[in-house]
Amino acid sequence: MQVQINTNTKNKSNCDGQECPSHTVTVLPSASVALAKNNPNLKDRIVSAAPVEDDSSFELKLRPQRLNEFIGQAKVKENLAVAIEAARSRGEALDHVLLYGPPGLGKTTLATIIANELAVSFQQTSGPTLQIKGDLTAILTNLRDRQVLFIDEVHRLQPALEEILYSALEDYKLDIMIGQGPSARTHTMDVKPFTFIGATTPRFGLLLRLEFYSNEDLRVIVERSADIMGVSIDRPGALEIASRSRGTPRIANRLLRRVRDYAQVRAGGNIDQPTAQAALSMLEVDRHGFDEIDRKLLLTIIEKYQGGPVGVGTLAAVLAEEADAIEEIYEPFLIQIGFLNRTPRGRIATQLAYEHFGITPNRRQSSLF
Ligand code: ADP
Repeated sequence: MQVQINTNTKNKSNCDGQECPSHTVTVLPSASVALAKNNPNLKDRIVSAAPVEDDSSFELKLRPQRLNEFIGQAKVKENLAVAIEAARSRGEALDHVLLYGPPGLGKTTLATIIANELAVSFQQTSGPTLQIKGDLTAILTNLRDRQVLFIDEVHRLQPALEEILYSALEDYKLDIMIGQGPSARTHTMDVKPFTFIGATTPRFGLLLRLEFYSNEDLRVIVERSADIMGVSIDRPGALEIASRSRGTPRIANRLLRRVRDYAQVRAGGNIDQPTAQAALSMLEVDRHGFDEIDRKLLLTIIEKYQGGPVGVGTLAAVLAEEADAIEEIYEPFLIQIGFLNRTPRGRIATQLAYEHFGITPNRRQSSLF
């Protein structure tokens, strides 16, 4: 489902010109989070970017609270810092923000940071949670002045609710139907000026896309988290964990936790590079952060389909996974690190993928690269 923005809206028309009223830090193919939550294979994956149950209390502790604690994503931070300072000095609500990026890259974290930096209250919900109009109108009518309302997976909001939300976003007004049938009346209510932060496919406003993190940024995140957890880790140890975290802070933090357990039991509590390597190989997370499913996906293309191209539907059937899960959860990282190409005719394993598995491509396959 897409977020529909009425072409007559103020936002849209302003955005068509030079100036755009809304800040759009991008959010995610959030369907992937829902997908992961419903898919037992994904839930069990240690390198899954989607939150798993025991992540939540732990993530709360590690979550940066202020913008200067948020590591990496320099462009996003700069844009936000300016917008936040401007809104604060004018005493106004910050423009609406859209965050776009794969799960685990820090969208929820950024949303809470924005509220903290603005010193306003923060409320969080998600598209799939809001089922009936009353759920959303209750939230909107109870908003506090200038507060932040974060709606994750906003593209999964039902169309009727989308309409209500967008009318509140555009002019801080809410139309409520009172009664039914011929006697029904529409009553327009004011909503307090607020900042909406949503996760969606980009449609309007300034777009700030969260990218996968570099190993260096992830290393800093791991060291910071280790510090909060009171775990001793050296730089090579932190880098080892970082480089196997698929560019994703959530995975880095999860791996750190598991390596800490290993270090405590087998290595006197200190995490250095050999300890991290031993722990991660025990957990079967290889040097690229691949797990069994990634390996199976690439090897299927290489061995069963001579390197591709192979359609995503076929891959899904062979791997017994949903096509959406392949597209939104497994592939983005494999594409990002150059192991997989998406072509109109299907997926192709690249030379790097062959090298990773120590397989020599034949002539026909080499000609694809
Ligand atoms: P999303 O909402 O995009 O799925 P979260 O904001 O929940 O991701 O981030 C997952 C975890 O990763 C957070 O608990 C936080 O500890 C960590 N994290 C994400 N981004 C950063 C960052 N830039 N710096 C430090 N930690 C981060």
